[in-house]
Amino acid sequence: MALIVQKYGGTSVANTERIKAVAERVVATARQGNKVIVVVSAMSGETDKLVGFAHAITERPDEREMDLLLSSGERITSALTAMAIQNMGHGSMSFTGRQVGIRTDSSHTKAMIESIEAGRLTAALDEGKIPVVAGFQGIDEFSDVTTLGRGGSDTTAVAIAAALKADLCEIYTDVEGVYTADPRIVPDARKMDRVYYDEMLEMASLGAKVLHGRSVEFAKKYNVPLVVRSSFNQAPGTLVTKEDGGMEKVVITGITHDKNQTRITLKGVPDRPGIAARIFNAIAKANINVDMIVQNISSADSATDLSFTVSKAEADRAFEITQKISEELGSKGASINKEVAKVSIVGVGMQSHFGVAAQMFETLSREGINIKMISTSEIKISCIVDVKHMEAAVKALHESFNLAKG
Ligand code: ADP
Ligand code: ASP
Ligand code: MG
Repeated sequence: MALIVQKYGGTSVANTERIKAVAERVVATARQGNKVIVVVSAMSGETDKLVGFAHAITERPDEREMDLLLSSGERITSALTAMAIQNMGHGSMSFTGRQVGIRTDSSHTKAMIESIEAGRLTAALDEGKIPVVAGFQGIDEFSDVTTLGRGGSDTTAVAIAAALKADLCEIYTDVEGVYTADPRIVPDARKMDRVYYDEMLEMASLGAKVLHGRSVEFAKKYNVPLVVRSSFNQAPGTLVTKEDGGMEKVVITGITHDKNQTRITLKGVPDRPGIAARIFNAIAKANINVDMIVQNISSADSATDLSFTVSKAEADRAFEITQKISEELGSKGASINKEVAKVSIVGVGMQSHFGVAAQMFETLSREGINIKMISTSEIKISCIVDVKHMEAAVKALHESFNLAKG
């Protein structure tokens, strides 16, 4: 008897009809002789609606209150899914993050899971019931509700699969698996049968929202067999797995894009030791993650421009801090640009190939797309471009690296 964790995303539980269809799939899996744990997202659009309510009340909602608010979307679907399963004549029980002991740190709206008490889940399974867990949430050491960041229900599912040593974790979504680029932007993107943890980790953290980045980290760390597939059909999906040396390494696995970027520039800062430390310490203290950083060569007056990117949600706070530091340093001011996006190419085979970066830059230049910032690692190259060029950039790169054919 296998233990399978099945996670259903927002589109898969978008309305009561879809919830009934999910219940059918879940019960069918159980009736084949498996133990099943279900993790559900909020109905599609629900989390955005709740965020909208908060912003209609206040420009800067308190993050603790935000978490209690946002966690409610997943509670609704977990209870409804349990009812739908019961209605099919199978035992089921819904649980919030708190009820299954999902402990996180206290970074509200982007909390990290620290531990899970599996007791209530195993008890429900032992009684022959199908537990349905509200995704995306936990509690911190003060028993306050936390959420795991947008898309975080994937992480709830993989963390539960890891904690209970499940045989399989299936992520059901609205596409048939992981593609070489977002199929909504590149219609001839190719569905991959398998993708390595490291590549998937990089793709997820660079914006391929089909999997939450932290979920892939957990899967890799605990070796959880992870499959991404559609809840709308029976197609086999994409297996996310460890490198086995059996597959020939392709140079480029996929192209990703991320609109959730803002560039902040600090102009004319003194070019002397300790300045970067001061700026980024202040930003880190505010619990804001910085992504790319670029410092220009200093001009004749020994002043330099420093640019960095942060997520849109944290941009205004980061900009306020930067403006304050700019005044303290007597620099030439700060600017903010929210109309940017990050486009990246990802592939473990990149490490052993020359000319990949040149091909990326040439492709963008042929399209007349200006690159504003560049960052590289062994297995990825990212460029910041104007958001209006993002889709053209993704399409051109997908074509240039010949990804449709595989
Ligand atoms: P869910 O609500 O099921 O969690 P998400 O919207 O979070 O679904 O993730 C699925 C979406 O991810 C797809 O509809 C697709 O547009 C997008 N996506 C982005 N990049 C990729 C990719 N490389 N492969 C597949 N889907 C991708
Ligand atoms: N409902 C949350 C979101 O929309 C979490 C999730 O769906 O995974 O981001
Ligand atoms: Mg998602």
